[in-house]
Order: sequence, then C-alpha cells, then structure tokens
Amino acid sequence: MKEIIKRTYPNAKDGSDLTSFCMNELKNKHQFDPDKTILGTSVCSDEIVPPATKFTDQIGNSSAFHFGGLGGYPFAGATGFAAFAGHIPDNGFAIILYGPHIGISSSGTIGYVQRKGQSAETTCCGALMASIGKIKAGHGITADTEMDFQQWTLEKTLSAHSETIIKDSVPLVKATDEIYNSIDNRIKQLLSLSEQHFQNKTVALIGGIVINTDFGMDDWFDLREFSVHSF
Ligand SMILES: [Zn+2]
Repeated sequence: MKEIIKRTYPNAKDGSDLTSFCMNELKNKHQFDPDKTILGTSVCSDEIVPPATKFTDQIGNSSAFHFGGLGGYPFAGATGFAAFAGHIPDNGFAIILYGPHIGISSSGTIGYVQRKGQSAETTCCGALMASIGKIKAGHGITADTEMDFQQWTLEKTLSAHSETIIKDSVPLVKATDEIYNSIDNRIKQLLSLSEQHFQNKTVALIGGIVINTDFGMDDWFDLREFSVHSF
C-alpha cells in the first residue's frame, strides 16, 4: 500500500507529520497563536476524512467550521466564509484546510478502503467514483439539482474534463486532481470575495489531497497549497 501511495503521490506526508509541519511553520514563521486560532475545513462529508489530519488537537478550539460537502467542495459559499470570519478570535488566526480525498487500501486498490466493522472494501471517495462511473457509461450529468445538488455539482465539474479522465491510466486519480483544482480556485475566490470580513485577521490556506487507508492505519496528505494571508 505504501509503495502505491509513494508512486501516486511522491510528496505525501503522514497526516500527523503534515499537521506538525504546518503548525510549526505557522507558529515560528507567521506568529500564529494556537489559542487564538480556529479551523475551517472544506473536506468530504465522509466520516473517515476529518481524523486524517490532527489540527484540532493543536489549536485552542477543538471543533471545526465545515464549509465542505461531498467531494470536499466548499458548498457553504460566501455566506459560510463571512460567518467563519466573524468567529475568529480578536486579532486572531484561522486555518482553512481543504481538498478531496482518495482511498488506497491494503490490497493496493485505488479508490477503496476497508472501514471499521466491515469485511469488504468500499468506495472512497464514493461521490467521485459514482461520477466517474456515469462519465464512463456516457450518462453525463444525471444527479437531481433539488434532491442531490452536491453530487450534481461534482458531476458538472468533472464532465468538463471527461475525455482526459477516461483516457488516464487511473481515472480516479485524474478526477481527484481536477476536483482539487476546482476546490482550490473556489476557496481562493471566496477568500477574496470575503476580504472585508477578515480585517485584522490572518488566514492560512492548507490545500491538498487526503489519502485514506484501511481502518486503524495512518492516513496521508499530499500538500499542494500552503500560504498565509493577512488582512
Ligand atoms: Zn468522499
């Protein structure tokens, strides 16, 4: 499994190591005070994603503000960003952790993990796998905008890249990259749109791909964005 992780994501770090690396940088180079820091996440709804990194163990507020929905897309939008900005301690700091996730199981299967209490492997990220299944079958966008809006958004985003996804040797890896790019763009747009709400606050963007493994094993994180913005 580790060989497949290293081959697919050569720079990936263990989730705990990634957290320590980022926190040390933020404290030593950017004067972050963990007691005056809150966390916002834009990660998938899947219950195995939040424990993959350990940021809530290292800051004063142990619960996170959730921007994300299926696939990690920031569905909370501009209203969510404005609300989050209003929750940052006075002259304080925020970390926004974002990105999609992908499973790599002990059997070496990309897109699957074995979860607690289950003998079979299940899809991870299931929402992205479902989107790819529709693309491969030529079904296009079929999710209902009213009853399944988040899945519709993912299908719409990926349908713009359907040819390159299908041609890739591992379509899920390509689709995960495309969703990451889309989330990264949207997070930066939302931050810029909400700038006036972040006055006198400092925000760290930590973006990348969560790599989930089987239950009881360490998860990994492929860091793609690490930047600090003062307003
Ligand atoms: Zn997911």
